[in-house]
Amino acid sequence: MTRADRAGNAVRYRIVECGRPLERDEAPVPQASGSDVIVRVLAASICHTDLHLHDGFFDLGRGRKVAMSERGVTLPHTPGHETAGEVVALGPEATGMAVGQRVLVYPWIGCDHCALCAAGEGHLCASPRFLGVFRDGGFATHLRVPHSRYLFPLERDVDAAQAAPLACSGVTTYSALTKARRHAGDGPVAIIGAGGLGLMSLALAAMLGMPPPVAIEPDAARRRAAIEAGAVKAFSNDASGVEAAHAALPGGAAAVIDFVGTPETVALGVDLLRKGGKLIVVGMFGGELVLPVPTLVLRALSLEGSYVGSLAEMRALMQLVATKGFPPVPLTRVALGDVNAALADMRAGRVIGRAVLQPDNSTEPGMIE
Ligand SMILES: [Zn+2]
Ligand SMILES: [Zn+2]
Repeated sequence: MTRADRAGNAVRYRIVECGRPLERDEAPVPQASGSDVIVRVLAASICHTDLHLHDGFFDLGRGRKVAMSERGVTLPHTPGHETAGEVVALGPEATGMAVGQRVLVYPWIGCDHCALCAAGEGHLCASPRFLGVFRDGGFATHLRVPHSRYLFPLERDVDAAQAAPLACSGVTTYSALTKARRHAGDGPVAIIGAGGLGLMSLALAAMLGMPPPVAIEPDAARRRAAIEAGAVKAFSNDASGVEAAHAALPGGAAAVIDFVGTPETVALGVDLLRKGGKLIVVGMFGGELVLPVPTLVLRALSLEGSYVGSLAEMRALMQLVATKGFPPVPLTRVALGDVNAALADMRAGRVIGRAVLQPDNSTEPGMIE
């Protein structure tokens, strides 16, 4: 295995053609200019969005697709938006960081010029510079970050693999839970899907002191993981499971968070809500939302899409972690060079929790040689 970085080169794995294996590419370590900070990657976890990027499209239902290229994603592209590492170089205008500092990278970076960015909503910016989506990401040995304000310091002894998922699955579920709590107060909450996001949400719900949610998940092993992560009960999505879920939510759920995002899960979420309840959709597996209009009105339901989380929510999550520790999400550690096998495992639903790439230049505990 090449210790490329020690020779002054960086290794990255890029999508060159949609659906084809990512290709290894070696290039000089990126130079830091302006306010740039160069981070040596210690851990980059894989998210379902990486699978969509790899496919090259989102499924809109009824045979319609939106191509990533229409959204401004250009190939070749290095995915990876859940990255933790160590600062190795600073641009001449970079402040507030030192070489050697361990950091978590917030990837949801906007244009920095529009009204949404000015309001702290850069994750909703119309001209995004998201790392790992519109800019090169963390499936690499090195990552360029445009400003130190997107870096969150980590203690030296923190396991980077444990921290990395906070940048997407952590802040995404934190944001969705915040929305659920704002609507539901201490009312009952259900979650649909106990994959990486669902398990993270259960761990964070406990850390936030929320009542333990009910989980709906077709896979028995994931249902067990959901209970371990803090679900009060976990049910299958078949008829008897749904019936049992209704029984466990007398009167219905005040909020449901759908971490899957298919027509079936959205319909299930609506079905589980009480009057005045809110469905928060986070997953975007794909398809089309069909909702009878009288159902929406007569039951006074709310529907909210929730996309990643703001820089302020990332900061709040890091403060929560500083006092309560990292959410105990199961991790599968994978060498960076095995990225294609890891993506295939994710696609086949064989990963419980989060798969985390650790570059072969890693000095992490448990690193894979
Ligand atoms: Zn993600
Ligand atoms: Zn903007």
